[in-house]
Amino acid sequence: MAYKEDELLQLSGIQHFSFCRRQWALIHIEQQWADNLRTVEGELMHTRAHDASIAEKRGDLLVLRDLRIQSAKLGVSGACDVVEFHRNDDGVKLAGRKERWQAYPVEYKRGSEKSIDADRLQLCGQAMCLEEMLCCQIPAGALFYGETRRREQVEFTTELREQVVEMLDEMHGYFARGYTPKVKPSKSCNACSLKELCLPKLMRRRNALNYIRDTVEQCGEQQSDRRGNS
Ligand code: SF4
Repeated sequence: MAYKEDELLQLSGIQHFSFCRRQWALIHIEQQWADNLRTVEGELMHTRAHDASIAEKRGDLLVLRDLRIQSAKLGVSGACDVVEFHRNDDGVKLAGRKERWQAYPVEYKRGSEKSIDADRLQLCGQAMCLEEMLCCQIPAGALFYGETRRREQVEFTTELREQVVEMLDEMHGYFARGYTPKVKPSKSCNACSLKELCLPKLMRRRNALNYIRDTVEQCGEQQSDRRGNS
C-alpha cells in the first residue's frame, strides 16, 4: 500500500505518540500546542542543527542538514536534522558526485539518553524514509544529546523497524477516525508541555463529578419508578 501526498503524517509525531498517544492526538489531530522549557530547548537545538551556514564537506565525509524526507510506504514526511554521508564503495551514488556514499542520520535532542524508545523510533523512521528515497540500506544512525554532548549509536534492528511500522499504522488509524484517546494520567504528565491543555487532574475530577451526578439521577429515577408502581 502507498499513501497519497495528502495522507502523510509528520514523522516527528512518532516521539509524541510513543510518549503519550493522547499528546500526539492533541497536537496532530486537534492542532493544539504549548511550549515549556523542554520544547523551547529542543527547538533551539534543532535550529542550530539546521543552520545551513555550518554545512560541511571534509574529505570522506559529506554532511547535509535539514534534509527533507518522506515515505509513501509508511505515510510520513519530515526532515532529518543531519545526514552524514560517509564515502563507501558499497554505498549509493548522489546527484552531482562521482563517489559512492553510505548514509548515517543524526538527530539532535535536548537532555540525555532516555529509557523509552521514542527518540530511537523517530530516528529509525528517518532511516526507513531515506532507504526508500535512496534505494539503500541504513543499518545505524545516532542521537546527539545536548545535555551530555554525547552521541548514542542506534542500530536499526528488525524489532525497532517493526515497532515503527506498527506505530505508524496505529497513528494513521487514529487520524482517519479523528480519535483522541482519553486522559490516562501517568508519570509522563509531569514533563508534558500540554498538561495545562490536557488537564488530567481536572478530567479526573470531572469524571468523579459525572459519576456522582449520574448516580444521583439514577436514584431519582428508581424512586419515581417505585412511586409509579405503588
Ligand atoms: S498531560 Fe498526560 S495524558 Fe495529557 S497529553 Fe500530556 S502526558 Fe498525555
